[in-house]
Amino acid sequence: MELTDRQEKILQIVKENGPITGENIADRLDLTRATLRPDLAILTMSGFLDARPRVGYFYTGKTGSELLTEKVKKITVKEYQSPPIVVREDVSVYDAITTIFLEDIGTLFVVDNHSCLVGVLSRKDLLRASIGNKELTKVPVHIIMTRMPNISMCRPDDLLLDAGKILINNQIDGLPVVKQSTHGLEVVGRITKTTTTKAFIELVLDENL
Ligand code: ADP
Repeated sequence: MELTDRQEKILQIVKENGPITGENIADRLDLTRATLRPDLAILTMSGFLDARPRVGYFYTGKTGSELLTEKVKKITVKEYQSPPIVVREDVSVYDAITTIFLEDIGTLFVVDNHSCLVGVLSRKDLLRASIGNKELTKVPVHIIMTRMPNISMCRPDDLLLDAGKILINNQIDGLPVVKQSTHGLEVVGRITKTTTTKAFIELVLDENL
């Protein structure tokens, strides 16, 4: 986050004199407390300053990148997950390919009739099954999918950072987000390379960071 000249000055004053009241900071800058209020709010929200009632403002000593790291380490999967796109295990490879085009996605999750996870289908799984095979309407996806228990997944309360590490370490494009249900692991969302990139971009563009 880019600080304004005035915010830099406030930081300097608090660094040298903290804890210091808002009134005192305003006096030193020849401004009113009301004029400073938005700047103090931004500096406090973004973590550069801390405020204690009846004590005043003090400098947290954290750099911009430390604050960014702190924020990244708090983001959970449920804040960024997309809706899951699923197919049943008996649909054909042909229909799975159609779904990938219609939904404009790369990874399909395969579920049983309780909506519980049984497999994953990537673009290349479908491509591989299609090479030299003219009868794609007759091949059910459960024959070609990667199946349980070999599926990497995450849960809504997991850190997005940990989900991102799984994507990179396992060299895959997507993870199902699952919740335990009576019949197995219900698919409730998806985390993909796009999701994690989006979180990263939003965070960097966030004015209040
Ligand atoms: P692509 O194959 O289109 O490059 P991926 O890299 O995501 O896409 O998939 C590579 C292989 O890993 C595929 O065989 C796919 O079935 C499998 N795969 C994809 N996602 C997962 C997952 N979450 N857990 C286990 N295997 C997966």
